[in-house]
Amino acid sequence: MKALSISNLKKEYAGGLQALKGIDLDVEEGDFFALLGPNGAGKSTTIGIISSLVTKTSGQVKILDIDIDENHSLAKKKLGVVGQEVNFNQFEKVGDIIKNQAGYYGLSFKQARENAKHYMRKLDIWDKRDEQARKLSGGMKRRVMVAKALVNNPELLILDEPTAGVDIELRRSLWDFLTEINKAGTTIILTTHYLEEAERLCRNIAIIDSGEIVENTSMQELLTRLEVETFVFDLSKPLLKLPESSDFDMFLENPQKLKVTVGKGQGLNSIFEILSGLGIEISSMRNETGRLEELFLGLVDATLTEKKND
Ligand code: ADP
Ligand code: MG
Repeated sequence: MKALSISNLKKEYAGGLQALKGIDLDVEEGDFFALLGPNGAGKSTTIGIISSLVTKTSGQVKILDIDIDENHSLAKKKLGVVGQEVNFNQFEKVGDIIKNQAGYYGLSFKQARENAKHYMRKLDIWDKRDEQARKLSGGMKRRVMVAKALVNNPELLILDEPTAGVDIELRRSLWDFLTEINKAGTTIILTTHYLEEAERLCRNIAIIDSGEIVENTSMQELLTRLEVETFVFDLSKPLLKLPESSDFDMFLENPQKLKVTVGKGQGLNSIFEILSGLGIEISSMRNETGRLEELFLGLVDATLTEKKND
């Protein structure tokens, strides 16, 4: 069974902005999945629709095989969501916020108290249980949101940029905590614009940009692909046959255009040497950047800027 299955999901906001242009996304049960994308890509819109806070324009969403349109309340029971914005009454006490949430899910008073205690302890907010939530730091509030989302032991936990604006220590402890509950069986989906975060935690990844899924693969496969770069050489003389070389992957796109794939950081000099040794004359060259690499340049920049501002 899929923990989440989205097909042809579209969202047009009032005013005509197409935030989602028909996305498809499947997440397996037990997975730790990253939805990575720059600001404005459509990550929060997607999560808003899954959690029924945003109405979709068209398409289908299933949570553990339950269509959210057909059985909204059952789907909701399977799901815990940690949004980007604080979603509790800040004048209430931390413990009450979490226990009351369990009440919404129909847990008994005793069960609610037990679960609330368990997650407050796990998230290190147990000693804040009698404090008014508004007095907590931003990072602590984030922990309250996580405890609140987990209090009914959902099978699928979705977190929208859980570590944005959070200090390094909390980021690390949240990573450890999420890894632990994923190992214990909870499917986790998180959105992030930190490639590092996705890389650390997630087994599978989808990349969203301008309302479209541009990549959907395993983290490992993606990282392998990012370790190479492709150069395009225009040749002075047409080449009829691809030369043999064990040093690089080469591809003759047409008799005057040769593509060479090398590991990142491998010197260009050695490519020139080998090509000239093979009698190939080059008239010009350029580095071919794919859409993915371009997107990552943006994501990496965003990460660096945030780190500076931390
Ligand atoms: P992300 O979470 O990836 O940063 P969002 O889903 O928040 O992206 O936004 C996707 C696009 O939809 C952006 O262009 C954003 O400005 C727009 N958008 C988001 N919420 C609304 C809204 N309530 N009304 C109109 N446009 C919106
Ligand atoms: Mg967002």
